[in-house]
Amino acid sequence: METREKIIVIGGGFAGLQFAKKLNGKRKKVIVIDKVNHHMFQPLFYQVACGRIEPSNISFPFRKIFQRSHNIQYRMCEVEKIVPEENKIITCDAEFTYDKLVIATGCRTNFFGNEQMEHLAFGMKNTQEAIAIRNHVLLTFEKLIIERRRSDDGNWNIVIVGSGPTGVELAGAFAEMKKYILPRDYPNMNFDDLKIILISSTDKPLSNMSEQSQEMSEKYLKEFGVEYLKDEFVTGYDGDRVVMKSGKEIPSNNVIWAAGVTGNIISGIKPEYIIRNRYVTDRYNRVKGYENIFAIGDIAHMETPKYPDAHPQVANVAINQGKNLASNLLKKSPADWKEYEYIDRGSLATIGKHRAVVDLPNFKFQGVIAWYFWMFLHLMLILSVRNKIAIFFNWMWSYINKDSSLRLIIIPNNKNNTEQ
Ligand SMILES: Cc1cc2nc3c(=O)[nH]c(=O)nc-3n(C[C@H](O)[C@H](O)[C@H](O)COP(=O)(O)OP(=O)(O)OC[C@H]3O[C@@H](n4cnc5c(N)ncnc54)[C@H](O)[C@@H]3O)c2cc1C
Repeated sequence: METREKIIVIGGGFAGLQFAKKLNGKRKKVIVIDKVNHHMFQPLFYQVACGRIEPSNISFPFRKIFQRSHNIQYRMCEVEKIVPEENKIITCDAEFTYDKLVIATGCRTNFFGNEQMEHLAFGMKNTQEAIAIRNHVLLTFEKLIIERRRSDDGNWNIVIVGSGPTGVELAGAFAEMKKYILPRDYPNMNFDDLKIILISSTDKPLSNMSEQSQEMSEKYLKEFGVEYLKDEFVTGYDGDRVVMKSGKEIPSNNVIWAAGVTGNIISGIKPEYIIRNRYVTDRYNRVKGYENIFAIGDIAHMETPKYPDAHPQVANVAINQGKNLASNLLKKSPADWKEYEYIDRGSLATIGKHRAVVDLPNFKFQGVIAWYFWMFLHLMLILSVRNKIAIFFNWMWSYINKDSSLRLIIIPNNKNNTEQ
């Protein structure tokens, strides 16, 4: 009887999922292991955090994705250790052996060792965290009403640390919420004092984009009433006040940390093959020092002439490394493998309704057309027709009514709560 090569994929994010899908129906046995039971479309987490779309619209259960697949299995568990000498991984529940191992564990929020911040501020790296932000922000307003407290101590301020695409999009969305939604939901409250504050260690937002886009995004933020604090470095947060290196302090109970990520390293790989919490790979995504271990997506550190410091940690790289590795592994011999080359197709971000910035390789544009472009692209990237329709409907509803009806506070009770 023919024995199929057994490939274990750790992580079903953009990279792991594309890799597995490309092997669907092929003569390989693939096991996808992920600690959560669904694939997450991270670029729209901020819309979940603001109650604009449902978490289910951007979360896709692995068992549903692989329902019709005969050669791909899914296991829900956290991988704790890799034992390369025995071609084995150890998870929280069981051990698995492999012929080939693909590590696609992505990143987690990087609090840069700031324990206070890690404990008290919100990250936005998974669905639970996006829902936690939504719950927390909405609860702030509910508590103010119940306690009949005045809001002028500033504790209801929403502070976002980090002015990359996530920070900027989140700030724009909360500013819209303040303008259109909160006054209707809480007619007895005066939201003039509520500040949406974006703190940045650089002098312009979206530092990875063109100057034109940086300037326009700063202008859009201003138009929406977002306070943009530039060249500020956050040093502490006690749950009530954010403290900056300059000595400035801001009162807030709602702090969201969007200032960086770091790789989800699993122990077992030799430390000399790890740089800045990413596994060092060759151009075929093979982890240095190992013949049958690969790393793809955010967790891979691949140096190329165009990217001597490794690729940016973006979805495009993850998706295409997943696809490239899968087609390499389907070839007869490593001699036929194709090196991975990143083709930068551009970047984009939206800052509230009718405002977005788009940098394409040969063309940059901003404003309304950029905003429609942003919406179209994200709809195309979302998995499943049902979710595309649901999101489109929600967006159209908000567009017409300047409102959405998804501001639910859902906090799991402790009974049988297997929170991860
Ligand atoms: C809020 C936000 C917004 C973003 N917006 C954009 C954007 O607009 N455009 C863009 O190009 N990129 C964006 N990105 C970046 C993009 O999402 C990542 O580059 C991409 O997700 C990387 O894919 P990946 O497969 O490497 O990792 P991920 O998609 O992060 O997947 C990693 C998977 O591994 C699992 N995992 C981790 N550790 C373990 C373990 N030990 N055991 C089992 N499972 C494990 C996780 O549960 C997860 O499912 C954004 C990221 C965030 C957080």
